[in-house]
Amino acid sequence: MPIYEYRCRKCQSISSHFTRRVSDPLEPSCPACGSREMERLISRVAYHRSMKDIHEASGEPDEPHGLDYYKDPRNIGRWTEKKFAQMGIEMPEEVRTMIDAAREGELPPAVKDI
Ligand SMILES: [Zn+2]
Repeated sequence: MPIYEYRCRKCQSISSHFTRRVSDPLEPSCPACGSREMERLISRVAYHRSMKDIHEASGEPDEPHGLDYYKDPRNIGRWTEKKFAQMGIEMPEEVRTMIDAAREGELPPAVKDI
């Protein structure tokens, strides 16, 4: 569901509005003052991808280590870091936190079932 941020031209308050479909016309009104003079903001790049998405986007591990390699949580972190670098994107804070936790020996929830 697309979510857009709007700023009210009257009171400058910023609010989020969503639409069911991209093609739907969106005529938001300001929740603070009720004005319909709203200006759409270019949304900041929100990064809401789960570990599952990352795994799907990056494909199978390509290192020839076999399954045992990934039983060591530290190697999962190493692989994830490498994949992020390959995709040229900055690692989201939540992933960084997961990897740090994995290095302490705690498996991230997304890979526990594998
Ligand atoms: Zn307003």
